[in-house]
Amino acid sequence: MPCGLGYRRSTIDNGMKSTKGTWRAKLGTATVLPNPLREGMRIRRTPEPCAMVIFGASGDLTARMLMPALYHLARERMLPPGFSVLGCSRSKYTDEEFRGKVRAGLKEHAKISNQDSPVLDSFLSNLYYQQVESHGAQAYGELAARLSKLDRECGTAGNRVYYVATPPSSFPVIAQELGKAGLARPENAEQKWARIVIEKPFGHDLPSARELNRVVTGVFGEQNVYRIDHYLGKETVQNLLVFRFANGIFEPIWNRRYIDHVQITVAEDLGVEGRASYFEEAGLLRDMIQSHVLQVLSLVTMEAPARFDARALRDEKTKVMRCFRPITADQAEHYTVRGQYIAGFVGGQRVEAYRSEPGVNPASVTETYAALKIYVDNWRWADVPFYIRSGKRLAKKTTEISIQFRRVPHLLFGQQGTDHIEPDLLSVQIQPDEGISLRFCAKYPGTIMQIRPVKMQFQYGESFGAEPPSAYETLLLDCMLGDNSLFTRNDSVELSWEFVDPILAHWKDAARKGLAFYEAGTWGPAEADALIERDGRRWHRL
Ligand code: NDP
Repeated sequence: MPCGLGYRRSTIDNGMKSTKGTWRAKLGTATVLPNPLREGMRIRRTPEPCAMVIFGASGDLTARMLMPALYHLARERMLPPGFSVLGCSRSKYTDEEFRGKVRAGLKEHAKISNQDSPVLDSFLSNLYYQQVESHGAQAYGELAARLSKLDRECGTAGNRVYYVATPPSSFPVIAQELGKAGLARPENAEQKWARIVIEKPFGHDLPSARELNRVVTGVFGEQNVYRIDHYLGKETVQNLLVFRFANGIFEPIWNRRYIDHVQITVAEDLGVEGRASYFEEAGLLRDMIQSHVLQVLSLVTMEAPARFDARALRDEKTKVMRCFRPITADQAEHYTVRGQYIAGFVGGQRVEAYRSEPGVNPASVTETYAALKIYVDNWRWADVPFYIRSGKRLAKKTTEISIQFRRVPHLLFGQQGTDHIEPDLLSVQIQPDEGISLRFCAKYPGTIMQIRPVKMQFQYGESFGAEPPSAYETLLLDCMLGDNSLFTRNDSVELSWEFVDPILAHWKDAARKGLAFYEAGTWGPAEADALIERDGRRWHRL
């Protein structure tokens, strides 16, 4: 079977090349979308031909996230006509064996119906496999030869995305070997671009992140380095920018005059799920806060960028991150809480304590929960606390940003039942059920004045009648298009390590002493409640 996605719909016209060199596709008139809110949204972007090399192709991330995302992109006809995937890892597979493995993985993790067979077969026919150890000149010489062959046979035009989904210790080695083999920077007219996607964790602390930045950008150049944080690919996270900067009514009140405080909750009901060895080393602060949560916080607090492009957007994010007030070792006690779950019940099922999970040290002091109070020292946010909490084995899986506005300055309605009214609350639900809701006060129907909180709600699924693409779909497509707006820049990664390193240092010194325990299936330790209640506030019920 010839390479390329032969099932591409003929209604797509691939004729427009933008000034940035990315291809845009136009949907023709044959597609009629039923939802009027989607009218006028027919411009699609399609990348230039390219080969995607996945290091770590036999691993969990590839099976659960990358292949389903690529398959869904193929099904949506978003991949270029000249496209192939070359899977690489140390295990030995033939192309056919690899396709069989991916097929089995897609059946488990992707949405496939019986009618999808032609798409699936076509997608699988574009997958290839090459055995590669992370180091060794010979392996990379063979890789170069294989890629040239794919260019000839599949029309991938010498463009490359290298997706590094191996254990972190291999990240720098793979980048260096690609450089040595001449695969990192296009050297001839035939080869156009080469980009590298680096999975998290990007470093273990500030010095290791700096060193990884030095190595990877030294080989590829910062412009071609895509540090992936899948949270930034989520639809609602992107919608935060639209919400803030495409609406006139919210931005004027998005500041210390009107906002009392902000809460960000990233809760998981799962435990470490077979990733104990990684998690024991990393802990919750590194795994969730250093990466996802600080990025989300920067989107909530940043100023409006001058333009909607990667540079302007990332400049603003970095600028506000420089304003995150450092939590020094002597303040850590007051501004942070770390916890670890003990046995409990999640979703009606009894679950073991973290220390009893397979692969976890029975005396482990690794945190599975963290709560922080952060200040952003600038004119917009001075004195507004940002309460952050994230943990494993909590009551339910949810990610939410809650913006609580100040109380009214004077309460007019003094009768019984109206002397304590809830302040307005804007909630941005990132997962699940992506949407935004605004809680405000209304009069309860009746002859007496009673005030109750009510909600106005927007939900993605209901309003647009379409499921948003997965974060990995968005990010893989962006990378192929050369748009790194939603990827983390080197300075931003280093700033987030600068922020968390002193906390980690304090926690390490305090060792066992500061660890608070919480029952699995609850909302975290009592100490986290105390952190916010000291300020006369409380965590929102989610
Ligand atoms: P796995 O252990 O499941 O897979 C690791 C992959 O890397 C395997 O394909 C393995 O194959 C390959 N590999 C290991 N060592 C080498 C080596 N020296 N040279 C070449 N290939 C090697 O890990 P995951 O898929 O879970 O994670 C991969 C990366 O993605 C990690 O950095 C992780 O932190 C990150 N990540 C994973 C997430 C997930 O949900 N799984 C979520 C977020 C990030 P073989 O043994 O055949 O070489």
